[in-house]
Amino acid sequence: MKKKIQRIMILFITVTLVISYLLMFLLAYARIRDIAQENLRNEAAYFSAIVNRFGDEALTAMDGTGTDLRITLISQDGDVLYDTDEDAKLENHADRPEFQKALKNGSGSSVRRSDTMGVDLFYCAVRLEDGTVLRIARPVRSALFTALQFLPLMGLLLAGMLLVGVRYSRRKADELVRPINELKVDEPLSSDTYEELRPLLVRIDEQNKAKDAVANMRKEFTANVSHELKTPLTSISGYAEIMKDGLVKAQDVPDFANRIYRESQRMITLVEDIIKLSRLDEGEMEEIEEDLDLFDLCREICDNLVPYAEKHCVRMELKGSICHVTAARRLVQEMIMNIVDNAIRYNKPNGSVTVWAGGTIGGARVVVTDTGIGIPEDQLDRIFERFYRVDKSHSRETGGTGLGLSIAKHSAELCHARIYVSSRLGEGTRMEIDFDESERPLHKDLT
Ligand code: ATP
Ligand code: MG
Repeated sequence: MKKKIQRIMILFITVTLVISYLLMFLLAYARIRDIAQENLRNEAAYFSAIVNRFGDEALTAMDGTGTDLRITLISQDGDVLYDTDEDAKLENHADRPEFQKALKNGSGSSVRRSDTMGVDLFYCAVRLEDGTVLRIARPVRSALFTALQFLPLMGLLLAGMLLVGVRYSRRKADELVRPINELKVDEPLSSDTYEELRPLLVRIDEQNKAKDAVANMRKEFTANVSHELKTPLTSISGYAEIMKDGLVKAQDVPDFANRIYRESQRMITLVEDIIKLSRLDEGEMEEIEEDLDLFDLCREICDNLVPYAEKHCVRMELKGSICHVTAARRLVQEMIMNIVDNAIRYNKPNGSVTVWAGGTIGGARVVVTDTGIGIPEDQLDRIFERFYRVDKSHSRETGGTGLGLSIAKHSAELCHARIYVSSRLGEGTRMEIDFDESERPLHKDLT
């Protein structure tokens, strides 16, 4: 980047200098040409005064002086009466523009190629008192030579400016790049740098925060897993130890064995849930999407859960109509299963659970309503967090690990569905699985 900035700056300086160099040369040349013409006019006036006073003999005195000035005396008819250039004397000059202008207006000038000398000349002609015309001429080349004399000096100036420019561009490029090199990637917003980089730094900061959040979540998750595994393991180990030491009466052995069985089942469920979650996290679930009838799926789930509901003295009811979605069967099943399981588990004796499945204007939908214990308003968003349980002791009693809804939320994301929850403490909860992708708040009021 530094090299690129330097290159651009050097190129810019060089082009600017070369253009100014050429412009200066052209301006100098134009000015010198003007001055040369002006001088020639003055000289013509001067010579005409001499010839008017002393006659054309005064001109012969110019012969052999070695000046680059060409002097010509022309009669009214255009015949050359005198010329410093001997060869030009035979030619008639009546057609020369400066001669014609001088005859008409008293004086005239022009710049053109001399037929006699074969070079470009400045001409200036003046009509004398006796009617003849005195014309003097000087090569244009002399103006060009004068202008060219400035070239080396201007070139030196150009080289000097280029050198300064290159050094300056290097320093500037260093200065420009330094704040970028000094950026603190860990704390991007603390760096004092270009305003233009701010959106990028804000993004880096957001990414850092997201990474920190993930790292914290992982730490918390590991701590939770260890804790959740340790509790049943401690119980199992405790019961086994008592039995090993022969401290359990023969008739109590089945009860102890049952407790060990229950705790180990709990561990198996937990480990299975963790595996499911990590697979969902890693995106390893390569589920095949298929055409599903949500109503049919709900009937299957309700049928399976009826014995569980009866055990909790909860009445199950299924409502709705056939409704098709294209999604991965296992994910949708798991999602609905977890939600209906909660509706039964966190219900009250003689309570009820209503499962509704059907199509709406917004798309396919499953609604699970229960008349259970409800969820406090401030914890509605938190119940989807891993291991989060509103009432830890109650969940433990019922065997909950707090992973069911996180699995459901994950599965919903993979099925392009969203789960909305609304609840009233002590009255019941309503969970809605919406297969419509339009954005809506996470929880709505229970109506
Ligand atoms: P499991 O992993 O076995 O499902 P869990 O049921 O405790 O354990 P989640 O299903 O994630 O975990 O639910 C999280 C918490 O949200 C529950 O512990 C419970 O406190 C609360 N909860 C969820 N559904 C309901 C409901 N229908 N009524 C009342 N509370 C609920
Ligand atoms: Mg649950």
